[in-house]
Amino acid sequence: MKTYTPTIGLEIHVELKTRTKMFCDSPNVSGEEQPNVNICPICVGHPGTLPVVNKEAVKHVLKVGIAVGGELADFTEFDRKNYFYPDIPKGYQISQYKYPLVSGGELSGVALTRIHVEEDTGKNTHTGDASLIDFNRAGVPLMELVTEPVVTNAEQAVRFAKELQLLLRYLGVADANMEKGEMRVEANISISADPKKLGTKVEVKNLNSFRAVERAITYELARQQKILENGERVAQETRGWNETAETTVSQRQKEDSHDYRYFPDPDLPKLWIRQIPEFSRANLEKEIGELPQGRRDRYSRDFGLTAGEAEVFVTQPEWGDYFEKLIAHFGGDARRIKLASNYLSSDVLGLAKKEPTRWRERPITAGAFAALITMLAENTIGSRAAKDILAVMFSDDTATDPMKIAEEKGLIQKTDEEELKKIVHEILNKNPAVVADYKAGKAAAMQFLIGQGMKATRGAAKPDILVKLFKENLI
Ligand SMILES: [Zn+2]
Repeated sequence: MKTYTPTIGLEIHVELKTRTKMFCDSPNVSGEEQPNVNICPICVGHPGTLPVVNKEAVKHVLKVGIAVGGELADFTEFDRKNYFYPDIPKGYQISQYKYPLVSGGELSGVALTRIHVEEDTGKNTHTGDASLIDFNRAGVPLMELVTEPVVTNAEQAVRFAKELQLLLRYLGVADANMEKGEMRVEANISISADPKKLGTKVEVKNLNSFRAVERAITYELARQQKILENGERVAQETRGWNETAETTVSQRQKEDSHDYRYFPDPDLPKLWIRQIPEFSRANLEKEIGELPQGRRDRYSRDFGLTAGEAEVFVTQPEWGDYFEKLIAHFGGDARRIKLASNYLSSDVLGLAKKEPTRWRERPITAGAFAALITMLAENTIGSRAAKDILAVMFSDDTATDPMKIAEEKGLIQKTDEEELKKIVHEILNKNPAVVADYKAGKAAAMQFLIGQGMKATRGAAKPDILVKLFKENLI
């Protein structure tokens, strides 16, 4: 059996979150329902109009560049990428060719080639005998990020795409919702029997979910391997992902790479990035807050969370913020921080996700939750009771004080040995046969007795005290 070396490079397009479009002042609105409302003569390509660079979009891309440790361009220019398509009314797309804003960098262990900014196209809809074009999206600032061909499998590609999405959200430069088409992935995939040589490259487009990225790459690697195993050759082509059939489908064969006849757009000035104060690294760095990796490191260093525990809060930063508000009550007490992390990421997140509206309108306050964690840490209540109290705090409008709920429901852990002793005596008197079993060496007898003790106290007895008392009274 031959082994094959897969080589995958990713090209990711992301719509940037800006007030206006890339080269005009039409509003940049994602998911506008009414077609052709956010348009003007510039973004629908009327002759004689002149584009103006959106500095906000340029800043966004430069910030991404800083975040991935890439090299920011000293100088950049915009180029015309010439091709005709109804949704690109000028007959060319304004993009960047020779001088991208960012070169190099690395994210999630994947080396990057370049990041540039360009304009998005309009959107075609084909209905029966007509084709409709909506130009709301035409001219929306689009970031294109290209990785080096260093990805070797589908999981790694998904991990990279997820980390990029998270980074863009932390930077506030894009929402990058894949299901809304705000982030679109293309994969260049080849396999080779000779690890020193590259195989024939197939470009897979239309990957609009993480699942599609995962499935399409897995499918395509298997398809190419089968072709090679049959002694045939992989055709160089562009393929699309068919979501329902879960297969890649040939879209067009590539003779040669397209001749877009790129040339610098004479309507746009060359940008000397270094000389524009807003684009200076120092200025941009001031606007960059904490990034995902920074939060990971801080949660491990300052709060002692494991990578898995931290990830829940890193990937859902609004929950991370809540967590930090919560543990601010604990003055660095490691045990309480750990308990808070556990109960927040399992119980509370579970409740909030089941009824998101309820949580949004009436969340459990960090203060009340902290009081509950303290009761747990001080053994005032047991773990079962904590879960019950949380459920009451979540669902009952009048219940906000965990101590009061615990008292009302009789959930305060009974540690009073005199009181528990009475219960233990009663149980032993009622169950002579079990006592005999215990004395005959049957371990299960003790389990039964503890169960009876928990039942008699409605779960409020501290188990280790029960064990101690039973043992003392069984001699
Ligand atoms: Zn416009």
